[in-house]
Amino acid sequence: MAAHRDRRRAIPGVDRLLARPWCRLLVESHGRAWVTARLRAVLEEIRTDRIPLPASEDGFEELLRREIARAGTPSLRSAVNATGVILHTNLGRAPLAAEARAAMARAAAYGNVEFDLETGRRGSRYVHCAGLVTELTGAEAALVVNNGAGAVALALTAFAAGKGVAVSHGELVEIGGGFRIPEVVEAAGARLVTVGTTNRTRPADYARAIGGGGVAAILKVHRSNFSMAGFTEETGLAELVALGAETGVPVIHDLGSGLLADSAELGLPAEPTPAGSVAAGVDLVAFSGDKLLGGPQAGILAGTRAGVGRARAHPLCRALRCDKVTLAGLEATLALYRDPGRARARIPVLRMIAARAEELGSRAGRVAEGVAERRAARGAAPLAADVVQGESLVGGGTFPDARLPTAVLRIRAGDEAEAWMAELRAHDPPVVARSREGRILIDLRAVAPEEEAALVSALAVLGRTGAEAP
Ligand SMILES: *Cc1c(COP(=O)(O)O)cnc(C)c1O
Repeated sequence: MAAHRDRRRAIPGVDRLLARPWCRLLVESHGRAWVTARLRAVLEEIRTDRIPLPASEDGFEELLRREIARAGTPSLRSAVNATGVILHTNLGRAPLAAEARAAMARAAAYGNVEFDLETGRRGSRYVHCAGLVTELTGAEAALVVNNGAGAVALALTAFAAGKGVAVSHGELVEIGGGFRIPEVVEAAGARLVTVGTTNRTRPADYARAIGGGGVAAILKVHRSNFSMAGFTEETGLAELVALGAETGVPVIHDLGSGLLADSAELGLPAEPTPAGSVAAGVDLVAFSGDKLLGGPQAGILAGTRAGVGRARAHPLCRALRCDKVTLAGLEATLALYRDPGRARARIPVLRMIAARAEELGSRAGRVAEGVAERRAARGAAPLAADVVQGESLVGGGTFPDARLPTAVLRIRAGDEAEAWMAELRAHDPPVVARSREGRILIDLRAVAPEEEAALVSALAVLGRTGAEAP
């Protein structure tokens, strides 16, 4: 006890610590005042026994260095997605194409966001990307806002605030993250007019609802995150558009995941597309920028000149406008779609969807070999690992029934599974994987080739804090 007190008395003062080389490096990146305050805080925690005092001088300095470096780590970090879920909403949905990343870095400076370079006068933010969206969807006009939910809310507000919106009972869906169609309609200041039943909604049901009066818009919602089978009937877009034309009620389509590529080329089941909605004649179709499109977070409205003009003129549009960096990333991503083959080769989401199980299996095997070599060189026990068949998911609330055959690196972890998952997350960069029944599953589907080295590093030191593989 007395020895412990003596050691605590021997703790060097803040001034002496600030002179150490590791501390000078921290001061260079975070500033002297901040590092001093952090040092004081950690020393106080040691003095009051909230952090145990390491036995050696080296251990003591390493503890301080680690604690302060951790406090200085940014909150938002990039991570390796080894879950096999491509559009992992919690991990930021779509990773962007190199072209999009470069355009976003350029746009981070000054640019002609709202400036007309020809006339030298004020320009409009809304012209950017609009031409590409109309070119790729066949729509007359387009508008880009902050996200898909914003695009739907804006369309409903502009068309139906204070009036009724007709929606099929079977399409009153929850997308996730609290986005529920009845609540969105309410938030838009509109009244929900439900049509038909959960499993069957016919054109006559819509006609009856409109006949009741006060309906200012028909909203069709793509059931993107679940499927319905059995005794079902759904009214198609073409029928709704015909009914809308007859009754003078505009049709808004909430499509969710704007796939601009050919789903068959990607090996996926057929999926409705923005171009399909436009061809069917809807007034507005809303879709996300960061789902199957593979771009940055954005919401896109495409449709008639009158429909888009009405949304753009609404004051809510200003509150939902997206920034120059997003516009640059979206424009660069959309430009890749001018050549479908180039889009499939360059847009990570499309490349990941199309990747074959054999290719993923050989990548997993290469990672396993790299890990085995590194562990042998360190004198660490080898991992009990093999490559087995598995399934990846598209994610992001899309293709709920599509299972993409994959090959995963399966690591036997036993009771250590949760501890090892935590070690992977604590790695720099963090690695996020799946674990099931004492096994850690590493799926290379959503791992970029240039991230493989980081994955090998993380797996090479796995188990350093606990028992070796069972
Ligand atoms: C995902 C989705 C949305 C919301 O789009 P965000 O870009 O996530 O805001 C809206 N509607 C449908 C049908 C969706 O699938």
